[in-house]
Amino acid sequence: MTQILGIDLGTTNSLCALFESGQPQLIRNAHNQVLTPSVVGVLPDGQVVVGAPANELRITQPDRCGACFKRYMGTDRKLQLADKTFSAVELSSLVLRSLKQDAEAHVGRTLSDAVITVPAYFNDNQRKATKMAGELAGLHVRRIINEPTAAALTYGFHDREAEKKLIVIDLGGGTFDVTVMEIFEGTLEIISTAGESFLGGEDFTDRLTAAVLRQLGLQLETAELKQPLRVARLRQECERVKRELLTQAAGKVRVPHENGELNDNCQRVKLTREQFAKLSGKLMQRITAPIDKALRDASCDLDEIEDVILVGGATRMPLIREFVETYFRKKPICDLNPDEVVALGAAVQSALIDDDRAVDDMVMTDVCPFTLGVEVAKQFGNQIMEGYYTPVIHRNTTIPVSREEQFSTLRSNQTEIEIRIYQGESRKVKDNLCLGELTVTGIPPSAEPTPFLCRFTYDINGILEVEAYLPSTGQKVSTVLTQHARSLSDHELEEAVERMQQIKFYPRDQVENQNLLLFVERVVGEVNPMHRQQLEEAIDGFEAAMASGDREVFQSMRDHLLLMLSQLGFVYNEDQDVIDHD
Ligand code: ADP
Ligand code: MG
Repeated sequence: MTQILGIDLGTTNSLCALFESGQPQLIRNAHNQVLTPSVVGVLPDGQVVVGAPANELRITQPDRCGACFKRYMGTDRKLQLADKTFSAVELSSLVLRSLKQDAEAHVGRTLSDAVITVPAYFNDNQRKATKMAGELAGLHVRRIINEPTAAALTYGFHDREAEKKLIVIDLGGGTFDVTVMEIFEGTLEIISTAGESFLGGEDFTDRLTAAVLRQLGLQLETAELKQPLRVARLRQECERVKRELLTQAAGKVRVPHENGELNDNCQRVKLTREQFAKLSGKLMQRITAPIDKALRDASCDLDEIEDVILVGGATRMPLIREFVETYFRKKPICDLNPDEVVALGAAVQSALIDDDRAVDDMVMTDVCPFTLGVEVAKQFGNQIMEGYYTPVIHRNTTIPVSREEQFSTLRSNQTEIEIRIYQGESRKVKDNLCLGELTVTGIPPSAEPTPFLCRFTYDINGILEVEAYLPSTGQKVSTVLTQHARSLSDHELEEAVERMQQIKFYPRDQVENQNLLLFVERVVGEVNPMHRQQLEEAIDGFEAAMASGDREVFQSMRDHLLLMLSQLGFVYNEDQDVIDHD
């Protein structure tokens, strides 16, 4: 048995799990947490930190950090971290490398295989980019699975006798997915899926941040450029208040000074649940459409849905819970932790790949979340109009699937065909997403249009391969080529892996101390100025002790610092992303 890592690579948080002793188990990181913030930071000495320390650094030195890069997977966008430039794939690979190291520290040996989850609504480019990130982290990506499918696997694993239709609603940091499925006798059948890849909890925090800035006469985008420190801390404040609204009717946002400092003189803005609901109105409107679409595609009435399962940290918002309850006229199920259920499901998928006996009665089928097709021209009278879209694989077809369609050349004596491949639901290609193109050359000239066949194969990882061939000559051209996530040759991949390996992580056995240091450096800007000097002295002592290597001195300095922090009202290493374990 290889023991395959199950990884939930999230927009805000990532987790990994292993299937051990017949159960999926979450792995803890160097900070003893199961959630690793998907944030990468470059320290002044060039070493890289991932997760909690990078999250701290992001507040005091946002220009050294990258976050929410999952939103740019499958695009050419580059992120600048201090003097280094990274693609979203590279930053994701650093998060994956960090998770891999945590799991290896747990099992005490090298782990080389992984199952990585992606939002169901991730397109082909984004999936290939995720696979590439795994490869750059030195992982053999055995399977890419959809996040709601992984969540369903966790439910299915715990409730195998169930026979019912259910819906998984997953609102994470940056993406929204809805999946309708049926469970019977251990078989999990995904019926339909819909979603948006740019809607998540972070958008709600953005609305709050923008509203507070508006009160100051500032716009979020310009303020981010002109006062990055202030916006970084304000965002953190808004995030805190957003979570407070889970249990309280109102919260107070402290508005940092222009230089980013937070102290007792800061202006405070009160925010009630009603105001938050109003600010989130437009975002909430976007929640309904994918739910309607998934139900319609599944030909499923509301009352056929027995369970509504909530996944993703942002479904903790009372706003979402109330909406779901009203919409489905029943209370949603949240007995498994919404942060953890996807990673656990990835580990169940790993066990399925490994033929683990604990899951030998489970079967799972998934669907292709969107329609895939090609661009065609249409003839209206004497006029040929280009830019139309013809589906080859319809959305919500069970995968793996392979479909073939016949087309023909447009003009007489045409010797070359360029086939453009699209994903989307619109009639015209301009409204769909171009995934790539494929050129067929050497067509024998002919006065009549030449027929050719186009075969689309969508595999269990949700990755598309397109083949075209001429029945007359049998000439075949195939491609998995996409616009952005171009496949690398073996040599290019080796070079890219090598380049990423050159990037040095802050040593794992000391990263927890580095995290504490970054935490207190942030706190310095937030304590009452009266206590600042005292805190700085304690930090200096801790930093010096870190360098000295004297364990006893170091331990007493650390204890002293932690005690002072708690006296000042700051709790260190509280798992900030798990407020309530429902
Ligand atoms: P992802 O899978 O995209 O990384 P998660 O499922 O970890 O996302 O959810 C992260 C999102 O959940 C963040 O936007 C965060 O603000 C939000 N979130 C987490 N806990 C709460 C809470 N108690 N109240 C409101 N939002 C929350
Ligand atoms: Mg998630």
